[in-house]
Amino acid sequence: MRQFTYTRARTTAEAVTAFGRAGREARYIAGGTSLYDLMKLGVERPLHLIDIADLDEMRHVDTAGERLVFGAGALMADVAENPVVRRDYPMLSESLSKAASQQLRNMATVGGNLLQRTRCPYFRHGAGGIYPCNKREPGSGCAAIGGLDRGQAVLGTSSACTAVSPGDWPVALTALDAVVELTGPAGPRSLPIADFYLLPGSTPDREFAMLPGEIITGIAVPKTAAGRRSTYHKIRDRESYAFALTSAAVALTIDGGRIRKAHVAIGGVGTRPWRARQTEVLLEGRPPTREAALAAAHAAFAGARPGKENAFKLELGARTIADAVVIAAERKV
Ligand SMILES: Cc1cc2nc3c(=O)[nH]c(=O)nc-3n(C[C@H](O)[C@H](O)[C@H](O)COP(=O)(O)OP(=O)(O)OC[C@H]3O[C@@H](n4cnc5c(N)ncnc54)[C@H](O)[C@@H]3O)c2cc1C
Repeated sequence: MRQFTYTRARTTAEAVTAFGRAGREARYIAGGTSLYDLMKLGVERPLHLIDIADLDEMRHVDTAGERLVFGAGALMADVAENPVVRRDYPMLSESLSKAASQQLRNMATVGGNLLQRTRCPYFRHGAGGIYPCNKREPGSGCAAIGGLDRGQAVLGTSSACTAVSPGDWPVALTALDAVVELTGPAGPRSLPIADFYLLPGSTPDREFAMLPGEIITGIAVPKTAAGRRSTYHKIRDRESYAFALTSAAVALTIDGGRIRKAHVAIGGVGTRPWRARQTEVLLEGRPPTREAALAAAHAAFAGARPGKENAFKLELGARTIADAVVIAAERKV
């Protein structure tokens, strides 16, 4: 067994200091539902764990101000079940309640969810030289390209990596222009979620625009009238307890039977949560019918590069968006 040290932090400042002392082989640990898994698989091999699960200062859920603010340590279950979030931002609530299982959501945090790593089987199950993976072992190659690629991304891929960004919550946050609040050795800063996730390019091991030792303290979501007419629609191989094959987070403002403003992001298809800007533009001014939505939805996949077995995601993804538009439009304001 590989040895590691374990430190429980009582404050955020204490956690950042402990990380600084421990160095780059350290990891923060919150719910542990992702990190312990990867440690058992030999993919993550930290020498020091700094436990931030008990930090009261990171557990808040504040829906009263100008922005929704979620402490990074708030549990997925608590945010999913928050009555204001459920009523005014069903897309956020659904992106959490359709993820993982109730037991996992009772442990896992909304901050840890942002940082979960890909479920690409070659990344997770190839440690010890079984399969090359540029994300796990930079420069080793990518077994998914030309391999079993049914679950791989079709958008944002590179010749080094096609791994899908796995989370549901980050897709809904992307549609709503959320901001990630961070602090670290250099002090606090805010990063729009659009800048938080990196494209793989030639360095797929770099996934997040975080500095060494930085901790996510919270997530802020600007309030929008489109929140009530929103949904997170998730298509998967089985109806529960599975990652997305395709998903769509859609929020709409509708005026006189036409879409005035559309927020659309998609999951299960990109190497990072994917904002469908062109689809948003095409939806605006159109009635929220399935036909109009499907025509606009296809634009989201204009730059797609499918592999051998995942071209079905282009049509499935477009239909997922179209269904989400219809579901969102039917919601009461
Ligand atoms: C069987 C299974 C099915 C799942 N299905 C889904 C699904 O359908 N959809 C979905 O979206 N997710 C799914 N998940 C993933 C699950 O949502 C994540 O494991 C969970 O959100 C991670 O949160 P955590 O608090 O447990 O993170 P941890 O495991 O504690 O940490 C994850 C990573 O984040 C870092 N970290 C955690 N918190 C912070 C912080 N505040 N600041 C800096 N770094 C931090 C850790 O160092 C680690 O690298 C599934 C997981 C499992 C095991």
